[in-house]
Amino acid sequence: MFRDGARKSAWQEEIKRFSSMALNSDHINFDVIVAGGGITGISTALHLQKLGKKCLLIEASNIGFGTTGGTTAHLNTFFDTTFDEAISKYGEDQAKLLAEVGKDAIAIIQNNIASHEIDCDFETKQGYVFALDDAQNKKLEKMVEGSEKVGVSMEFCKGISFPVPFVSVAMVPDQAQFHPVKYIKKLAEAFISSGGIVLEDCICISHSEDDSGITVKTSQGEFKAQNLVYATHTPPGVNILNMMTAPYRSYAIAFEIKDNKYSEDLMYDLEDPYHYYRTHIVNGQKLLIAGGEDHKTGHEQDTGVCFSNLENYVRKYFDVGAAAYSWSSQYYESVDGLPFIGKLPGSNGNIFTATGFMGNGMIFGTISSQIIGDLIINKENKYENLFDPRRVRPISGFSDFVKENATSAFDFIKDKLFMTKIDSLAEIKDGEAKVVKYEGESYAVYKESSDKIHVLKSTCPHTRCEVRWNSAEISWDCPCHGSRFSVNGRLLTAPSTQDLQRIKMEDQ
Ligand SMILES: Cc1cc2nc3c(=O)[nH]c(=O)nc-3n(C[C@H](O)[C@H](O)[C@H](O)COP(=O)(O)OP(=O)(O)OC[C@H]3O[C@@H](n4cnc5c(N)ncnc54)[C@H](O)[C@@H]3O)c2cc1C
Repeated sequence: MFRDGARKSAWQEEIKRFSSMALNSDHINFDVIVAGGGITGISTALHLQKLGKKCLLIEASNIGFGTTGGTTAHLNTFFDTTFDEAISKYGEDQAKLLAEVGKDAIAIIQNNIASHEIDCDFETKQGYVFALDDAQNKKLEKMVEGSEKVGVSMEFCKGISFPVPFVSVAMVPDQAQFHPVKYIKKLAEAFISSGGIVLEDCICISHSEDDSGITVKTSQGEFKAQNLVYATHTPPGVNILNMMTAPYRSYAIAFEIKDNKYSEDLMYDLEDPYHYYRTHIVNGQKLLIAGGEDHKTGHEQDTGVCFSNLENYVRKYFDVGAAAYSWSSQYYESVDGLPFIGKLPGSNGNIFTATGFMGNGMIFGTISSQIIGDLIINKENKYENLFDPRRVRPISGFSDFVKENATSAFDFIKDKLFMTKIDSLAEIKDGEAKVVKYEGESYAVYKESSDKIHVLKSTCPHTRCEVRWNSAEISWDCPCHGSRFSVNGRLLTAPSTQDLQRIKMEDQ
């Protein structure tokens, strides 16, 4: 298992293990410990190591195991929070600052590619956003107006041919795409060559702070550092950020291409949730990668249906061949539509977080490396205030957002009571999973075959919500904060730091 799901992403074959060097007494104290081996953690660790800091990167599984191994890797200068929304929520000046992020982050990626000679299929592209009806057209008009106000080029255009029947389309120049795992793999190698240490299969469990610095408790022992960066979405354990971000699942399918009638550019519709397309050559074969069908984690009864919906949507318009890869992964939305990058709320100012990137984490993860790098070396950064996780924005919707996350556990308790009608494990068919009540306790049961049944306690160790079955990735997902577990209970996705409790069946 090299990714946090049972399905294979188009990038996954590039994931490799980084053999960790044997640690000795020199490797107990660090300037910076970075937890999380995705684009955010690796970019930040490399940047800080190059600034002369002695860094340790710890990763719970392997480099690229999380969302970076399951992304679709569009590099955009416009975001899920549109500029017209940003203007109305935060004002024009802040929206103008937000508008600089895409360009800055793409420049950092290009600079990394050039200075470390990274072959990661980077290509500059145009982006096209299209409206399928009048309501979407109104939305697109606002997007174009908002972009103009903040100085990001986005203009209505004509003469574009694309098989999806749109009523209007706007073009955004200077977008890009790349192979995310080829990119981070080389960044990790550059980090190691500059003296950094990578420790895989090392989960950060907790931290404590005192005058002498930060002690980080991990599955491979304790380490000390002056600074700690959580590039793990939310930090492990229970934290205020659990209430300010919500986990979402998103789906992608890479289809074999039959002819050359596909746009070479990056295409986005304005449905809710939206669909998007791009092409990529993987193992010498050109594929059409389509994405979308997002939903809150644990809120979809049958996640397999999300793949069918996406596949049907694509096949309705495109003459594509077989699905070479199909996968889903997890991203986090923030309560106010802006990421949280900077000092961790409640810390003394030496612990950092970077999350709430929505579908733009290649960009926000990259810019995090510079923001957090500057904060650590006490240098001003123009984005520091905009993305400060300690910001308090009493905007409408906050209490609903928190309530929505909190009620999800209650909804499931009702489902669970319904499950009591299942009075025996024998009712579960091979390849099926269910949460069942048995002698007053609740269990997550997956029947791999008639003689192999995996039984777990169904309560997530993080905040004791009840997990739900994800049939598409063969995992148990927590609807409250997005922790995920394999069928044998192994932790796949934080913020839990513990596995689901395994139950040994007497007849197994
Ligand atoms: C299907 C999909 C498509 C997307 N497409 C795009 C796109 O086109 N463009 C774009 O910009 N963004 C996109 N995104 C978003 C983007 O992929 C993510 O925001 C980004 O990959 C997050 O990177 P990260 O490094 O912060 O997190 P991750 O890549 O998830 O890395 C976090 C790492 O931390 C490790 N970890 C977790 N807890 C611990 C712990 N306690 N101790 C040690 N290690 C730990 C995990 O194992 C993981 O490897 C997409 C997201 C999805 C789901």
